[in-house]
Amino acid sequence: MTATYRAMQIAEPGRLELVERPVPQPQPGHVLIAVEACGICGADSGDIEHGTPGRIPGHEVVGRIAKLGEGVPPIWRIGQRVGVGRFGGHCETCRECRRGRFHLCRNQPVLGASCDGGYAEMTGARPMIETMPLERAMEAYRKMRSGDVKFRMVLTMKEHAHAHQ
Ligand SMILES: [Zn+2]
Ligand SMILES: [Zn+2]
Repeated sequence: MTATYRAMQIAEPGRLELVERPVPQPQPGHVLIAVEACGICGADSGDIEHGTPGRIPGHEVVGRIAKLGEGVPPIWRIGQRVGVGRFGGHCETCRECRRGRFHLCRNQPVLGASCDGGYAEMTGARPMIETMPLERAMEAYRKMRSGDVKFRMVLTMKEHAHAHQ
């Protein structure tokens, strides 16, 4: 792995610039992801227009796990392909969470807005809750539809898609 990665960051509201950053070590419980692709979404334009300089936009990321932080559960492996959505993990305790409206949680990081996103060769460390092996995503979606289980990531991504309609 190289020591640096390229990223498009907000230079000033409404303008992106190409920069090179040092590859970080993931924090405990987080992973580092080598980005393969990042979708471009309508919400990105708002993030770029109103974002803080230095923030990396992009919240529809597919990539492979490049490094595991300390204490990451063993379902996650180096090289595993993962998808990353908009929301960085809800708190389960705020008013919105207690009503089951996790996508409206007041305390969660928002990828590309309050934490760095996927317009980059590497993403910074991420909370695990927003990351799911792609091979499990369809299974999770079917279970969610049939009412068996709520898989949070699929749920929040679905809510997110609705929010854009
Ligand atoms: Zn989006
Ligand atoms: Zn919450």
